[in-house]
Amino acid sequence: MSYDLVVIGTGPGGYVCAIRAAQLGLKVAVVEKRNTFGGTCLNIGCIPSKALLYASEKFEEVEHEVAALGVVTGKPKLDMPAMMKHKDDTVAANVNGVAFLFKKNKIESFIGSGAILSAGKVEVTAEDGAKQIVETKNIVIATGSDVAQLPGVEIDEKTIVSSTGALELKKVPGKLLIVGAGVIGLELGSVWHRLGADVTVVEFLDRILPGMDDEVAKTFQRILEKQGFKFHLGQKVAKVEKSKTGLKVAIEPAQGGEAASLEADIVLVAIGRRPYTEGLGLDAAGVAMERGRVVIDDHFATNVPGIYAIGDVVRGPMLAHKAEDEGVAVAEMLAGQHGHVNYETIPGVVYTMPEVAAVGATEEELKAKGIAYKVGKFPFTANGRARAMRHTDGFVKILADAATDRVLGAHIVGAVAGELIAEAVVLMEFGGSAEDLARICHAHPTMSEAVKEAALAATEKRPIHM
Ligand SMILES: Cc1cc2nc3c(=O)[nH]c(=O)nc-3n(C[C@H](O)[C@H](O)[C@H](O)COP(=O)(O)OP(=O)(O)OC[C@H]3O[C@@H](n4cnc5c(N)ncnc54)[C@H](O)[C@@H]3O)c2cc1C
Repeated sequence: MSYDLVVIGTGPGGYVCAIRAAQLGLKVAVVEKRNTFGGTCLNIGCIPSKALLYASEKFEEVEHEVAALGVVTGKPKLDMPAMMKHKDDTVAANVNGVAFLFKKNKIESFIGSGAILSAGKVEVTAEDGAKQIVETKNIVIATGSDVAQLPGVEIDEKTIVSSTGALELKKVPGKLLIVGAGVIGLELGSVWHRLGADVTVVEFLDRILPGMDDEVAKTFQRILEKQGFKFHLGQKVAKVEKSKTGLKVAIEPAQGGEAASLEADIVLVAIGRRPYTEGLGLDAAGVAMERGRVVIDDHFATNVPGIYAIGDVVRGPMLAHKAEDEGVAVAEMLAGQHGHVNYETIPGVVYTMPEVAAVGATEEELKAKGIAYKVGKFPFTANGRARAMRHTDGFVKILADAATDRVLGAHIVGAVAGELIAEAVVLMEFGGSAEDLARICHAHPTMSEAVKEAALAATEKRPIHM
């Protein structure tokens, strides 16, 4: 059997690519070494973490928030197996959904590890060692990423865990120490903090959320500290020692200096992810790599004709929706259409409470590029809906070109920021201005009115409710 397209890996990049290609009439097969489809995102990433974030948020609301709304409850009791079941059921519904979509679109699946023998030939090795060769006109590598390891600290997924282990803890840790103040560390830290853990975050850089707008990161850090998070910034973890009573974590200033020691029951290593290409045979196939990533051109093509790559395994932000959009684009190109991804408008969201969401340039990036810009800000304390929900932490910040008023970036800290950012993405995709955003009618009372007000502040310094 020969195919038009074989996709290796069924994460959001791979499975979306396969479906789009099949929709466009290509004969498609996927190769997946896991027993379920959906990759990191659906099995051990976006989906299970959001299921636990949602559940733990409800727990915290009952414990700390609903009384102020006049809802009297007793102290909530944590049923950990039930919370984990909610997470597992959510994962199952999603991965089974992908299996259904493969069937619906007549996509063949091969369960096993894929290796590229040459352009047009993929060898699949099943768990029992049985091998078969699948022939195809085109190959898309969508093998994603894996946890980045901290040198000298061995992850056992019991007491020293990666994000995967942190989604499976059997009980709430007394003391959780997180290495890395990026999105994954802060999201999983929030889950366990809400359920009762004492959370300390150690970060090499002198700030949290590297890459996000500085002011946003500082505000968010203050909010997390108010919630009870402790931060050690500009510090690196040198060693983690196991003892009978727990873990002893040696930290030292990133730029050198006196070491200190912290105690923890669980250490979560969340220093990032690295592209995953093990066993793919890329060397033998002659596929060029750079710092672990597969090198591609603007059409997702590698240096070997007929071999393409998308998602976490190539350049760009390691995000599920970026992988999905690349999957659609490459499928459309292979079907003779003109697929495209606009990398200027890929949103990023931190699903904590409050959430953090951003699209486009940060103030630091605009300054570095010497672009003159205007800033419009609006706090949720002045938003009626936010007050009604008692979610007044945070603000919206709109950055617009000083000369043309075109929106160059939007940054939000606040409840439902991850939903609010979508209108800024649409606006930027259409090259809209702050004035456009400010003149669009927004329903009252909604959190989205803060986006309009920030745009008003950017365009003419005339927010109505400030
Ligand atoms: C805890 C956590 C939370 C996250 N939350 C979010 C979030 O909220 N939003 C967001 O946008 N992103 C999130 N991410 C990141 C997101 O999961 C990734 O960006 C996304 O999964 C990348 O998709 P992908 O298709 O490139 O690869 P992956 O999802 O990593 O999938 C790759 C697939 O390829 C398979 N594979 C690898 N090698 C082979 C081989 N040789 N043969 C066969 N199969 C192979 C793997 O088994 C895997 O199924 C999160 C990640 C983690 C870890």
